[in-house]
Amino acid sequence: MADLAKFRALIDGVRIEDNAQIVKQKSRDFYWYSPVLKRQLDHVTADLIVTPRDEAEVIRILAAAYETGVPVTTRGTGTGNYGQAMPLSGGVVMALTELKQVGAIRPGSVTAGAGIVISELDAATRAHSGQELRLHPSTYRTATIGGFIAGGSGGVGSINWGGLRDLGNVIRARVVTCEASPRVLDITGDDLSKVMHAYGTNGVITEVEMPLTAAYDWIDVLVGFDDFMAAVRFGDELGNEDGILVKEIAPIAAPVPYDYFLRHQKFLRRDQSVVVVMVAPHAMGAFETFVARRKAEIVYRSDKATAEELKSLPPAYELAWNHTTLRGLRVDPSITYLQVLYPFPTHVESVERMVGLLGDEVPAHCEFVRFDGRVTCFGLPIVRYTSEPRLDEIMRLHEANGCPIFNPHRYTLEEGGMKQSDPIQLAFKREADPKGLLNPGKMIAWEDPDFDFSSGKLFLFPGLAAAA
Ligand code: FAD
Repeated sequence: MADLAKFRALIDGVRIEDNAQIVKQKSRDFYWYSPVLKRQLDHVTADLIVTPRDEAEVIRILAAAYETGVPVTTRGTGTGNYGQAMPLSGGVVMALTELKQVGAIRPGSVTAGAGIVISELDAATRAHSGQELRLHPSTYRTATIGGFIAGGSGGVGSINWGGLRDLGNVIRARVVTCEASPRVLDITGDDLSKVMHAYGTNGVITEVEMPLTAAYDWIDVLVGFDDFMAAVRFGDELGNEDGILVKEIAPIAAPVPYDYFLRHQKFLRRDQSVVVVMVAPHAMGAFETFVARRKAEIVYRSDKATAEELKSLPPAYELAWNHTTLRGLRVDPSITYLQVLYPFPTHVESVERMVGLLGDEVPAHCEFVRFDGRVTCFGLPIVRYTSEPRLDEIMRLHEANGCPIFNPHRYTLEEGGMKQSDPIQLAFKREADPKGLLNPGKMIAWEDPDFDFSSGKLFLFPGLAAAA
């Protein structure tokens, strides 16, 4: 039985919040994107929020949790989409936002506290030496770097650098364990897979070292197309164009851009699909030639926008990745979305097949990326949601057509990922969190070692009731 009163006494001096309304607000993320997760997790709340000021306080909190049996769910800024940072068994949410120091900035790398917001880290490296992070989520302006590593996968920049999971895209993570005397481990190389995308289930990242690349004042461009598949082919060819430096390529099918990108609406027609692109300033001439050769139409470019327009328009990356869905949800709260991989080399044909099968029930949204060294695309299509059985049916249709789904309607690591346990992350949890107090309910392999992933059954975490 967790002893919260003793926990509080043990961490005397650490900042604690117990106002029920604030605690509830800080116990949530963007789980409500999914009608399934909204139904399952809406009641979830922690008992307390703790905000350590430094790594020493993280260590005190984790030692106290171990002694008292209080669960700890680590939080960056709570922009995850799958209830990752939600305390399914109640207990404590530990917000890492005060761990925001920027350390050494060298040619090609930066060290920083895990709780720093990504845009603030980028601003520091730009100001220091004209360098920027290789990739970031579209939540650049709100998410923390530690939350990206523990809960995200890739994003803007993935067309050049692949995903976070690719060797070299994270250099080092400093991790605190949840034991009687918490250990502080500097993790590098292959070992990083133990804690990356582990939802904070097996350690708390306090500091990271990230690789950097040259920074540019990226130009936002929208290219309009009458035919969505022409937009997809354009994206594919641009991704494979060797000499034009871009950071983002996202074809999005009509009528999504017109209906949902309200502040860009004046540049668009309703029947127009677009490709959202970020182009390096020195590559703009070559990009214009590339566009002209395909008789495509640039409908918006930020370098020709007025000062007034620039003030009112969101950056291109906030039209892409999961911001496309967010803009849609603001207009039509009944929609939801999927996460799909269209595997190389048949990615363009796969997109076409799924568009043919599902039409306007599932308006397409692709994101071109480098994946295992090839240019291919992910999809974050909008789903005009009707029911859970139909959503499942749409996912089954994708998989039957060779397009794996990373299910964003599940709160566990396994069901949202490869639908199998990860022995490396499980083994590290045994070592780093022997009492199973870190973010309970998210790793099926820990909660129910006999769970049969091939059964098609939904995992239901028994502890979920504790957070009610
Ligand atoms: P949180 O949501 O607070 O936490 C995420 C997970 O990491 C949780 O499980 C939490 O327990 C764990 N965690 C957080 N900090 C630590 C730590 N220091 N140590 C250990 N565990 C920790 N994701 C992408 O990958 N690419 C995108 O382009 C993208 N676009 C998005 C757009 C929108 C509009 C939204 C709502 C989400 C998007 N996401 C995207 C998901 C999410 O924004 C990112 O993954 C983000 O980086 C998470 O950071 P955070 O600080 O909000 O983490």
